[in-house]
Amino acid sequence: MHKYIVILGAGESGTGAALLAKSRGYDVFVSDSGAIADKYLKDIEKYHIRYEQGVHSYAEIHKADMIVKSPGIPENAGVVSEAKERQIPVISEIEFASMHTRAKFIAITGTNGKTTTTRLTYHLLKTAGFDVGIAGNIGDSLARQVIVDDKEWYVVELSSFQLDGMHSFHPKVSILLNITPDHLDRYDYDFDRYAASKFRIIQNLEQADYLIYLQDDEVILSGLKKSETRFITQSVSIKTPHAFASVRELHLQIGELQVSISDIPLKGKHNFINVMCSVTAVLDLGADAGKVIEGLKSYQNAPHRLELIDTINGVLFINDSKATNVASVYYALDTYDNPLTWIAGGIDKGNNYDKLRPLVEKKVQSLICLGVDNSKLREAFQDVIEKIFETDNIKEAARKAYEYSQKNDVVLLSPACASFDLFKNYEDRGNQFREAVRELKNKVELIQ
Ligand code: ADP
Repeated sequence: MHKYIVILGAGESGTGAALLAKSRGYDVFVSDSGAIADKYLKDIEKYHIRYEQGVHSYAEIHKADMIVKSPGIPENAGVVSEAKERQIPVISEIEFASMHTRAKFIAITGTNGKTTTTRLTYHLLKTAGFDVGIAGNIGDSLARQVIVDDKEWYVVELSSFQLDGMHSFHPKVSILLNITPDHLDRYDYDFDRYAASKFRIIQNLEQADYLIYLQDDEVILSGLKKSETRFITQSVSIKTPHAFASVRELHLQIGELQVSISDIPLKGKHNFINVMCSVTAVLDLGADAGKVIEGLKSYQNAPHRLELIDTINGVLFINDSKATNVASVYYALDTYDNPLTWIAGGIDKGNNYDKLRPLVEKKVQSLICLGVDNSKLREAFQDVIEKIFETDNIKEAARKAYEYSQKNDVVLLSPACASFDLFKNYEDRGNQFREAVRELKNKVELIQ
């Protein structure tokens, strides 16, 4: 058993790992190079855990038998690479938590759709009567949960950063939704390295375990060809009817189960993929089919993902602030048949907009660029969109979008970019947009 454990980063996952380590008798030291938020400091101090903030004391950190690294700290940060050079194992919080529970896991990764699919799978299992928890970027960390409230099952959302610190973690069911370019700054701008991180989700699967994956994704297919697949594979497709789960006229065919599209409260083809993956997983675990349908009907999506805010004189306002890459915007544009005013922009993460051009040509009548530097976006689309307006003010963006639109048109905030130039994060951007739309609606109604 490892004796001295150092936790790098004291956010939700780091603090959870520290509390779990302490409760299991390790010597624990928490090191955060920034300021630790008050609510986490309280936890750390309450259990008399040693810590430092504003600095990483290498000498102390390098005494560790094991390091738990928060996902926000890059693999190539000095403190991490030096520890690795000294052969100190560096693992993620989920890996650490999984060593201290007998629970079984459904693990979900992909560039897009993780949160939606994780929440949905959790909801379906809960509706079907399973003793189940949810973790990974959602609510309390897994480590914190397994201290006291250990469940039989956990559905965990895994980012590539969490997966990088996974070595022995062994899910019963893994879901691989898609792999498209994102976060390349953390992988030396090497897409293959990012894809390899995602593939760590299958590394410990055994014969009786399941991998559910999107067959339409070339990167997944070629990765699987190169891997040894000694487990059960179930493919999902929106293109081929022969897949284990696929879209037929007005229903989804998932194994033996038919799910009517009208029973699905989520819009867009990407959500069909998410639903097919979730339902396949819960059926694998033996959930009752009737309960699965009941769960689908009662599912409520998280905000900022194609969230309908309101309509103003028949113009629909949609908040898709979580769409921070090109692939998620592709599905957002694909979802609506009516003319679109598209609000996009922010910090470009090296986007290639070519894939969007056919959809944009067909559907987008005007573009509002919302960012500090809009040059790349404007250049990408100025030959196909007639009306382009630039602003760094979200209220003005909402006003202008309304001015450009007519009854039954859709105003879609789906930025394809990170939010940090003008907002704290994507939630802040989505919340401010919702507020701006409400304010606009009040004003419009006053005039009428
Ligand atoms: P993640 O947790 O991976 O970021 P979310 O479920 O929060 O995924 O969705 C992020 C964005 O991607 C939203 O704009 C959403 O509409 C879109 N999206 C959801 N599922 C998919 C999918 N399967 N493929 C592509 N885009 C998706």
